[in-house]
Amino acid sequence: MTGKKENDKIRKELFYKRENGYDLVTVDERVAVEDYCTGYARFLSDARTEREAVRLGIAEAESRGFREYRRGMALKPGSKVYFNNRGKSLILAVMGEKPLTEGCVIAGAHVDAPRLDLKQIPLYESDELAYFRTHYYGGIKKYQWVTVPLELHGVVVLKNGKTVDVVVGREPGEPRFVITDLLPHLAQDQMKKTMAEGITGEGLNILIGSVPYDDGGKDRVKLAVMSILNDEYGITEEDFLSAELAAVPAYDVCEIGFDRSMLGGYGHDDRVCAYAELKALFDIDGVPARTCVCILADKEETGSDGVSGMKSAAFDCFMEDLCAEQVADVRRCYENSFCLSADVTAAFDPIYPEVFEKSNDAMINYGMGICKFTGARGKYDTSDAAAELVAYLRKIFDENHVVWQLCEMGKVDKGGGGTIAKYMADRNINTIDAGVPVLSMHAPFEVVSKLDCYMTYKGVLAAYSDK
Ligand code: MN
Ligand code: MN
Repeated sequence: MTGKKENDKIRKELFYKRENGYDLVTVDERVAVEDYCTGYARFLSDARTEREAVRLGIAEAESRGFREYRRGMALKPGSKVYFNNRGKSLILAVMGEKPLTEGCVIAGAHVDAPRLDLKQIPLYESDELAYFRTHYYGGIKKYQWVTVPLELHGVVVLKNGKTVDVVVGREPGEPRFVITDLLPHLAQDQMKKTMAEGITGEGLNILIGSVPYDDGGKDRVKLAVMSILNDEYGITEEDFLSAELAAVPAYDVCEIGFDRSMLGGYGHDDRVCAYAELKALFDIDGVPARTCVCILADKEETGSDGVSGMKSAAFDCFMEDLCAEQVADVRRCYENSFCLSADVTAAFDPIYPEVFEKSNDAMINYGMGICKFTGARGKYDTSDAAAELVAYLRKIFDENHVVWQLCEMGKVDKGGGGTIAKYMADRNINTIDAGVPVLSMHAPFEVVSKLDCYMTYKGVLAAYSDK
């Protein structure tokens, strides 16, 4: 006969139980969580587009001794370089002690986020109000983007090649923009539509002005707006043809909850992992054993296509250049490399339990979420990391006291998603997904737990630091 105490011991030994991170971290670590999140909140507030994230990443890297990589540059263990891919994606590397033929430790996040891009002929006037037409970028629920204060970010590239940077609405006191919605009093027909149909893509037009130009002619309000833009930026309407302007939510990053345990803001997906990677790369103690590579990718939200997306050969070119310097074969390097595809995952939301499978989904405050596979409809469109890889992460995360959880994204038949993981795995690189669980993912205002943000940084640092 065994007593209750003995049974509890056996139960503890044999059963797997996921634990709330707050039951696992020390008081000191809670202070570290706060410090880390202060830095992250600043980054998220300043990096509103992929271009801004890349610019910030470069500035931070240069202040820590990273130099822009030039083909043929001599590199030695400890050398720190970065490759700026057209201002939209960034790859950084810290050269390791071991040769590149023994592989790299790669962490890959993306810095693009769902937003409302302006169309190439965006400006129009309707009934004496001026608007920008938009074409949304990434997977959004359109109804979430009306009656939200918006700010405008991007570039206008003039015919002479000169780039004009545009940021309006970020600083206090600057004007902001908005897409209006129908008042409930007159919305009885709209309210009968599905949430997918209630607001249309063609209806996402941003209100930008109302005062007419003082000449009594046609399109007076449009002319008045264009004349403000001409005064401010020296552009004409034709210059929008070669512009990339995006409207993003003008919400400030803030703490959520009486206990201030969460962070609300626009673009956690995936800047929360991008920041974790950058900070981890900067915090590597001494020279790493293997070369550490940090990717801030673009175009993940639209399928990773294009020159700045993860399918682009830009990554391979950079890696080949690094290998060439050591007369190493990049294919050898890839087959011995390990990639942590650092991207957010869905956090279990108690308000919508019907789409989740609680025992396998990520919980807020349970730490970095490792996804063995992503995809949908029976594991389609996923690289599905091998058990060996999961075991490896279990080992290094436990050794480094990283609070982590294994997770899927919702019920099997309910849908799914993808990341850059499969494009890395297709290169013959052992790849696994891991990142921060998010509430309201892809909404104009997303929520993450501070503890999970910090543990994701710790997880990436554990991978970079592994001997
Ligand atoms: Mn993502
Ligand atoms: Mn996403």
